[in-house]
Amino acid sequence: MVIQNTAVFDEEHTCPDCKAKMSCCEAPPVHVGDGLGWGSEVLFICLNNECPTFQGGWKKVDVNYGHKGTFRNMQLPGSTELNVMMVASEFAFTGSIIDPVQMREQNEHYQERQKAVAKLDTCVQDNDITPVMTLILDEKATPADRSKAVSLLKEFNDLSCIDAIRNHTFKKTDLAQEINMVVSQLLKDNFKKECPFCAELIKAQATKCMHCKADI
Ligand SMILES: [Zn+2]
Ligand SMILES: [Zn+2]
Repeated sequence: MVIQNTAVFDEEHTCPDCKAKMSCCEAPPVHVGDGLGWGSEVLFICLNNECPTFQGGWKKVDVNYGHKGTFRNMQLPGSTELNVMMVASEFAFTGSIIDPVQMREQNEHYQERQKAVAKLDTCVQDNDITPVMTLILDEKATPADRSKAVSLLKEFNDLSCIDAIRNHTFKKTDLAQEINMVVSQLLKDNFKKECPFCAELIKAQATKCMHCKADI
């Protein structure tokens, strides 16, 4: 999930009933028929099991609705208006707590990825290899964007990209194969090869590595 409005992570919400810090949680998906939901990607929810709203709620739900459940106090971002949400168990929302630090990082990566995608079409004429490498090394970028980046890589004829590629573990084997082919071509075009012992780039016709001195 990507939260567009990262300002919500600076918000502090305190439960008016128990004074506990409310947890920033991912809003539940809205089902057809539920209306428009809360109109927010995140909700601040009091997950304190000692909270009077939570403790007193079991009985209220039983009496009024005839099933097992209780309430949690909730506030929307940017508001101190108190809402209650019905929950079926004490575990509801505990799996959707958002870690602001992690979320901010994810968001930054997302923005970086979007910027790289936007620059793909012009990066060759701008002689800017950065967007290409960003997408090739980003496991979360789409296969189509990464594949396009790989096909653009050979346009740069830049051997300095090989180190980063060799130090990256590609989870998708077909992409890894595409990259290997481009790297091989890049080496061939530059009359180079990788030393099988130390991985440094050496002349294609070398019989001894100038870096590790191994016989090849
Ligand atoms: Zn509370
Ligand atoms: Zn070597």
